[in-house]
Amino acid sequence: MESAPTIPSRTATIRAWKESGGGIAAVLPIHYPRALLRAFGLLPVEVWGPPRVDPAPGAAHLQPYVCSIVGNALSFLLKDGLDVADVIVVPHACDSLQGLGSLLLDFVRPRQPVFPLYLPRGRRESDRQFLADECRALYGKLAAITGRAPSEEELLESIRREEEADGLLAELHHRRRALSLTDLAFYRLVRAREYLPAEEFSALARSVLDTPPADPRTGIPILLSGIVPEPMALLDAINEMGGTVVADDLACCGRRLYPPGVSGDPFRRMAERILDGPPDPTRGSPITERLQHLVRTARETGARGVVFYDVKFCEPELFDLPLLRRGLQEAGLPSVHVEVDLNDPLSGQTLTRIEAFLEMVAGQTEEARR
Ligand code: SF4
Repeated sequence: MESAPTIPSRTATIRAWKESGGGIAAVLPIHYPRALLRAFGLLPVEVWGPPRVDPAPGAAHLQPYVCSIVGNALSFLLKDGLDVADVIVVPHACDSLQGLGSLLLDFVRPRQPVFPLYLPRGRRESDRQFLADECRALYGKLAAITGRAPSEEELLESIRREEEADGLLAELHHRRRALSLTDLAFYRLVRAREYLPAEEFSALARSVLDTPPADPRTGIPILLSGIVPEPMALLDAINEMGGTVVADDLACCGRRLYPPGVSGDPFRRMAERILDGPPDPTRGSPITERLQHLVRTARETGARGVVFYDVKFCEPELFDLPLLRRGLQEAGLPSVHVEVDLNDPLSGQTLTRIEAFLEMVAGQTEEARR
């Protein structure tokens, strides 16, 4: 069924960008203004770990209960993995990332400038103003190190380029069941948004969306929540076990389907886009809002259950989980929670739990049909 597109690798993309005279911004999860970095000629390349690195160098600086996204990022940096970057951006998504930002600023001190980005925990007018001011402050820091000063029109142009890419990203999510892609191929494609220039991602997305639709995917439909689907072999495993991911609420994917902004002020518009995105615990979204979002998404996509696939020691996820799972159960949506470390291979225990969950969901669906 698959006609997977050819996706440029992260390494090739970085090399090509640098050869064309651009710079690289290594960006930690989760929310940040891509358009602002691009307006300064910096390509944002996201650092979700990466998985499977030697965690020892980072472990010497961190408490043992810090998640492997942060631990691996620090280890990767200490092993010169971020050498290609010209700046490092650390959004304060959670206490662990905030701690990493402080470590980089005060103790480890990489050769690149480190820019923290504080994210408000609400959607009030004051939150919008605060985040717009954060973006404005980041503009000042980027101007100081690059010697550039993009005009308001250039900033808006950069925003429009990202809005177009995000519109196509949302369309891919919306039409995912009719695309001729396995779950693994789909997530390779949408996760290319983590490093491809927006215009390249848009061209890739268009080529996939223009492919004639396939027969809708079959399999036990589930919604995948959590942080990041690593190792990505998980996705093939879900398909092999008879499941199919019809929607997601992943921090790296579905929680970043940002709508277009409306303001004519570029900083305000960057803030609007982030704050008007789907609910996310790292932005302080109330649990009721998250619950409504998950239930609505499941109803719209036909998902019969929710797999929470979390990174170990992820506090923002763990705080919400008990009430979220109870609310889903009351709404007729069973769920399962598994935790992984980014350095571990896909374990038999994880697969067994997901397989048992899929069987249970299939059984419930069968019973409801009778
Ligand atoms: S996995 Fe959780 S704790 Fe770790 S960086 Fe992401 S949000 Fe923070």
